Amino acid sequence: MDNIKIEESALWGLVYEALVSSLPSHAVKTWFSSAVPVSYIENSLTLSVPSKFFSEWIESHYKDQLLSAIRSVTGDPLTSFQLIVKKEEIKKQLPSLNPPRIQVKKNNINRNYNFKNFIEGTNNVFAKNASRAVSESPGQAKFNPLIIYGGVGLGKTHLLHAIGNSALNKTPGLNVVIVTSEQFTLDFVNSLRKGKALEFAKTYRSADILLIDDIQFFRGKEQTQEQFFHTFNELYQSGRQIVMTTDIVPTEMKGLQDRLISRFQSGLSVDIQPPDFEIRVAILLEKSEQNGLNLNYEAVEFIARHIKNNIRDLEGTIIRVLAKSSLMNREIDFNLIKEVVKERVGSSFSPELTIEDIVKKVSLITGVKEREITGKSRKMEIAEARQLSMYLVRTIIGSSLSKTGFYFSGRDHSTVIHAVKTIDKKQKVNKKFQNQVELITKELDLSF
Ligand code: ADP
Ligand code: MG
Repeated sequence: MDNIKIEESALWGLVYEALVSSLPSHAVKTWFSSAVPVSYIENSLTLSVPSKFFSEWIESHYKDQLLSAIRSVTGDPLTSFQLIVKKEEIKKQLPSLNPPRIQVKKNNINRNYNFKNFIEGTNNVFAKNASRAVSESPGQAKFNPLIIYGGVGLGKTHLLHAIGNSALNKTPGLNVVIVTSEQFTLDFVNSLRKGKALEFAKTYRSADILLIDDIQFFRGKEQTQEQFFHTFNELYQSGRQIVMTTDIVPTEMKGLQDRLISRFQSGLSVDIQPPDFEIRVAILLEKSEQNGLNLNYEAVEFIARHIKNNIRDLEGTIIRVLAKSSLMNREIDFNLIKEVVKERVGSSFSPELTIEDIVKKVSLITGVKEREITGKSRKMEIAEARQLSMYLVRTIIGSSLSKTGFYFSGRDHSTVIHAVKTIDKKQKVNKKFQNQVELITKELDLSF
């Protein structure tokens, strides 16, 4: 088997070279540098790639180029390729290493959410530790029920599934029932409609661990709450574990029956706070590595400074950078990252940076007084500093044309358009000026 190993990596080395000469370098770097040759058997080269996103992207965008690169190396028009995701590779090896597990009852647990890939920080460590404790010994009175609360995209669902996964790993036969509160409601309503109330009760009341996501949706649904109350009591009294998540502090959940709220208080409530800057950086580094994206520190810092209160958004930014780079055939550089961040945060982009800050900065660099920049003088050096300021206001803060014009002594939008065009043109013909503008932009962008 050993020589096959050498063969596939040697083959991949040559194919990679062929790709370098047929595709733009950023495309090869982004999509192929993280591919690992796994085998070359029966005319088919198997490559493992970091995620499903990669395999779909390569299949839909670079299939022909990859095929012809492989065939040009093997000289055989029948050679083909297959892409697998790294995780699949591990999964495939598992059966031979471990005897098959006891068949676990099928449920909706997301296998990708576990404790290991949940990044810990001061904002979530309490919630994580409590979740872990519950998964290790479910049903202990002091943690029952466990309520995890916090804002959108902060990892509540992730922790809920991690509890399920970890408990099942420890005790494969456990009956872990995981639902969203909407699903619970739907099941309940359907059971009424179809006269299957008994079946409904049985499903939920036989759980060893009941994990319910987003219980804020129970608000105002009296009958469902009634059902949930009974389910809750039955499970609780027989020492089974209940974990719930919500985006509102449990005691302040209006529209929830008082008796439910008082039941919730018998256990433990833990919160997840928005991540601070360091944690956002850690998450970005981890998620970009998972996606095979190699971001430098400057880029990571920039994203982390702007996308502040939602981990789902941090992840989404990385996927979007990858997608945009390929769709628009662009190098992943600071400009691209800035564009994506800007799109994602929309009007809240650089809220701390004001037009005044920009004018101040331009004044500092050009030596033209702030008052003159915003004033009416047409003197060349003053007009130039003003145009530069307008350009920066538009490109960094993105203020509207009229708002920008208004700030500079009530000029109209066409003056602003003209300023932006002029600065753009000037940058094209004057490299030194371009570098200067880039430097100011960067300094301003990172200065808050
Ligand atoms: P919520 O349920 O609180 O709205 P999710 O659990 O759906 O948020 O999390 C949103 C995304 O962010 C998920 O992809 C999740 O894996 C990821 N995520 C959240 N917190 C963390 C963390 N601490 N470490 C790693 N990934 C996280
Ligand atoms: Mg959620």
